[in-house]
Amino acid sequence: MLPDIEKLLEFQIADKEIRKLEDEIAALPKRVAAIEAKLAGTKVRLEKARGAAKADEANRKKFEAAIQDLQGKISKYRDQSLDVKTNEQYKALMHEIQFAEQEIRINEDRILEVMVNAEARDKDVKAAEVELKAETAEIEKEKEEARKITAADQAKLAEWNAKGDGLRHGISADLLRHYERVMKFRGSGLAEVLDHKCMGCQVMLRPQTYNEVRNGQQIMYCDSCQRVLYFDPTKEVKPETVVEASHGRKRHRPKSDAPQAWFYRPDYAEEGEVLIVFTNNGLMSTRRVFEMHSGRQIGDILSREGNYRLAFPEDLTDSAIRLNGHWEEAEMDEWGAEIPTNVMDALHADLRAAQREHGSSHKEHATHSAHQPAAN
Ligand SMILES: [Zn+2]
Repeated sequence: MLPDIEKLLEFQIADKEIRKLEDEIAALPKRVAAIEAKLAGTKVRLEKARGAAKADEANRKKFEAAIQDLQGKISKYRDQSLDVKTNEQYKALMHEIQFAEQEIRINEDRILEVMVNAEARDKDVKAAEVELKAETAEIEKEKEEARKITAADQAKLAEWNAKGDGLRHGISADLLRHYERVMKFRGSGLAEVLDHKCMGCQVMLRPQTYNEVRNGQQIMYCDSCQRVLYFDPTKEVKPETVVEASHGRKRHRPKSDAPQAWFYRPDYAEEGEVLIVFTNNGLMSTRRVFEMHSGRQIGDILSREGNYRLAFPEDLTDSAIRLNGHWEEAEMDEWGAEIPTNVMDALHADLRAAQREHGSSHKEHATHSAHQPAAN
């Protein structure tokens, strides 16, 4: 690999770290602002509840004053009734008194209503007060937390910036400029070449470009995404070595209780030959299906409850051949929609070995596997 590319790879690590930290630092004030907005909402609610309680109190006083007023009127009418001359006048006064008494009862009902309401209002006010207190404490805690994270991020950022600056000086200016331009638009400026493809955009390279990248004599860019290309020779597994290894000694028999199980099936739906991998994850299991020869994933990752043997019985047909292989779920996620060549080669070689074994000692194999749940 070209020294410039090696340095650029290192620089990309620093560069990504710097971007991540900058994003994190920028996001924290927004988080605090969101909590503060919530706090403002609770404050408004408290003010409203307090306002309503105050209005009730004012109404109650108004009704009480009205009752006093009416009572005054009644005693005045009674005084007047002692001095009336005619029966009509007397009747008229009695009528007024009756009317005032009715008004008093109406006001008394209103006061009662306000008092019943007041209990609910009090509850509202108290609830809003409690909430405000809790939220205020929470926001202080969050702000403190945000301050701490920001300070830590800034320290880390300064460190990475220094590291990045150091690495930047070692890389040719033209290459760096190109990298940064692509990074700005695509989020990454470098792409590994695997299986003749640019892993940045998944486009196949022209054979000449591929060979140039593989030779590592000059800087090459992807024609379709413009990323700087690099090739890691340690990842290249030559098919011969795998075959040789499986020829050399007896094939490992896959463990029946392994958390991951690969199968070859010659007769899967419309696709025909496929590779299927099941992974048990605690209470769940997942299934991925790939085309046998291109390694392309067929359909989405399927997730079901329970161990894969119970969860995907329809896939475990008699024609399915169990293969050796284990890759972490995270690694498989990184493959994207296609199995990398080295993995494909290993699986194909194991299948050939399994078929040879199967063909030469079919009977023996069958009896053997009938009682070998924990055998190697
Ligand atoms: Zn590309």
